Amino acid sequence: MSATTFTIAALAGDGIGPEVMREALKVLRAAEARFGLHLTITEAPVGWAGIDAAGDALPATTLELCRKSDAILFGSVGLPDRDPTIPKEKRPERAALLRLRKEFSLFANLRPVRLPKELSHACPLRPERQGGGLDLLVVRELTGGLYFGQPKKTEDIPGGQRSVDTMVYTSAEVERIAHVAFRTARLRRKKVTSIDKANVLENGILWREVVTRVGREYPEVTLEHMFVDNAAMQLVLKPTQFDVVLCENLFGDILSDEAAALGGSLGMLPSASLGNTTGDRTFGLYEPAGGTAPDIAGKDLANPIAQILSAGLLLRHSLRHDDAALAIEAAVQRVIGQGLRTGDIFNPAEPAARRVGTREMGDAIAAAV
Ligand code: NAD
Repeated sequence: MSATTFTIAALAGDGIGPEVMREALKVLRAAEARFGLHLTITEAPVGWAGIDAAGDALPATTLELCRKSDAILFGSVGLPDRDPTIPKEKRPERAALLRLRKEFSLFANLRPVRLPKELSHACPLRPERQGGGLDLLVVRELTGGLYFGQPKKTEDIPGGQRSVDTMVYTSAEVERIAHVAFRTARLRRKKVTSIDKANVLENGILWREVVTRVGREYPEVTLEHMFVDNAAMQLVLKPTQFDVVLCENLFGDILSDEAAALGGSLGMLPSASLGNTTGDRTFGLYEPAGGTAPDIAGKDLANPIAQILSAGLLLRHSLRHDDAALAIEAAVQRVIGQGLRTGDIFNPAEPAARRVGTREMGDAIAAAV
């Protein structure tokens, strides 16, 4: 029997963070009751809230809480207009989020993109390309490749300058991200499309070899390989062909944003950043794809669905309660089906649509769970 007792660190952060976190916790509590879980959820400050409370975007007590937890549910951090005198490395985006990623070696970034057919109007693609609703997942390697490889420098040379970035992957790094993709595909439509540039890059050749080898351990999952340039095109031509899209860091950065645009609104997109797995537990940080949205903060306008679905991913990947994650996803789908819409997904031309605020959307989803 799987475990039912867990501890979660809830770090709401800035801007709309506290509002959408409040709704996500409501929904988590509903899932806890329905599935007989015992969740100890502790809230702690991060971002500007951390600077205000303890002079640090990631206060020591908050970090300690994260270390003692099974997973982190994260809101978002950063307020562009606050105190420009604080140096970059102390500002929340770096001092909190990047530090947490590093501290917990969060090497796998998962970004599911779902476009319910009811929100067809919010997608930039023509309806016939949406195939009655999109559902794909980008799995991006987050700690290797061109962003971190050494040497990385700019130097003066006769007549100008010369910059070097180094794309480097070990087979072990490719293996562990490939396992994440195949394991996740097993819970979905059982297809992995692995992205590389094996026709040009040494890294691409290694990537393809290792992914193929790991794929043999998952015979029930279909594996296909695609060059990244073609993948960029296929995502807008025929996105319905994809289930799990597996990418190295740079390609994943670009393709996950391209895929995100298909989801209609940032307010609908959750994400997971996973660390290592020990036994049956995987540590992870779960957060909406969007930021703090200062333009709508404190007005009951934010869409809480990205944060709520992030809580669903936490249940699936860190707590291994796929049943509870599915229940949250089904509840979101039901409420969308009933026509409830926050401003970002509201279309006055939809006859059954009813515009609601952050709180009412959260209440409805919690009730549906
Ligand atoms: P943003 O994602 O906060 O907002 C972009 C647009 O999307 C805005 O119009 C906003 O209203 C809308 N939006 C975002 N989330 C929404 C939601 N849940 N419901 C409805 N609409 C939503 O991006 P930005 O304005 O470029 O950045 C604002 C701040 O957030 C910056 O300080 C930035 O650094 C920070 N940021 C943090 C994270 C993070 O914590 N992971 C991610 C991105 C940006």
